[in-house]
Amino acid sequence: MTTHQFSYGGKSLPVTVLGLGPMGQALAGAFLDSGHPTTVWNRTPGKADSLAARGAARAGSVAEAVAAGPLTVVCVIDYEAVHAIVDSAADALRGRTLVNLTADSPDQARAMAAWAAAHGIDYLDGAITTPTNTIGGPHAAILYSGPDDVYATHRTALTALGGTGVHLGTDPGRAAAYDVALLDIFWTTMSGVVHAFALARAEGIDPTALAPFAQAGMGALPGIVGGYADRIAAGEHPGDRSSILSASAGMEHVVRTARARGIDTEVLGAARDIVRRAVDDGHGGEGFSRMSELLMNDLPIRRPGKLSRVH
Ligand code: NDP
Repeated sequence: MTTHQFSYGGKSLPVTVLGLGPMGQALAGAFLDSGHPTTVWNRTPGKADSLAARGAARAGSVAEAVAAGPLTVVCVIDYEAVHAIVDSAADALRGRTLVNLTADSPDQARAMAAWAAAHGIDYLDGAITTPTNTIGGPHAAILYSGPDDVYATHRTALTALGGTGVHLGTDPGRAAAYDVALLDIFWTTMSGVVHAFALARAEGIDPTALAPFAQAGMGALPGIVGGYADRIAAGEHPGDRSSILSASAGMEHVVRTARARGIDTEVLGAARDIVRRAVDDGHGGEGFSRMSELLMNDLPIRRPGKLSRVH
């Protein structure tokens, strides 16, 4: 199934953007900047004002927006919102392509692909892994998954969004799977960032005084991520340079200081508890990268109200 009945040629392909939050606005703006006739729709219509001033066509309904061209991009808060928008326009979407750049779980992405297939809609799922200000520029990173022919058909138009689009294969959940793993890193890190500023301020340290040291420390992360990937792939976790036991002690210092300053300890306290369980299970001497395997296979995991093992 392809949208070959439409032939607009190269960059003049008309595109539709549904959802005009900060990201949807950035996507529509990038299509406009690349010369694509761009039709927009948003639940709250006022958010189309600035795009309309730049030349976008406003649609009065989702069906009207979708009918403007062969390619529709939707980008809203979650897949429930996607369904709230596109379900009523399924007939208008039939024979066209829907590219869903909304973030959600891999299972949701697969279910959305099944919905699209059932309605005769070509479907690509996607994940945007960089902020709005990158869209349209060289630093944008957008992952796609879904049928090869659908990606090939719209690849040129999608280059308007910037960076290097990467097609991860035909499993529609693949882009979302990468995305949730990357968001796992991002949000646990960002939780640490805001907690660290709170802890530092409680100790009388100005945020701007802390920032350079935080930045220097975080500059080491890319190397650590690469090293861990190699170790996890090899299944080797030497504890010679940093052990799980040592990590547990370091986490405890932070938790103790936060508690003494009346600052919430739940986030790092939870991480510390997991690491403690690894120590209790006899893994204290192994390298911290080993935690990744233990989380998958061996450690007791916390579910609401009880502690149970995966296997
Ligand atoms: P939001 O995630 O806040 O989404 C806002 C959009 O969702 C608006 O268009 C809003 O419509 C719409 N919406 C919410 N609920 C409904 C509903 N029930 N029915 C219809 N429309 C609904 O803002 P973003 O634009 O920032 O994010 C969009 C997607 O992009 C998200 O999945 C996000 O994770 C992803 N993303 C965002 C990044 C960013 O830097 N912002 C970076 C990478 C990915 P209305 O205006 O009417 O409220």
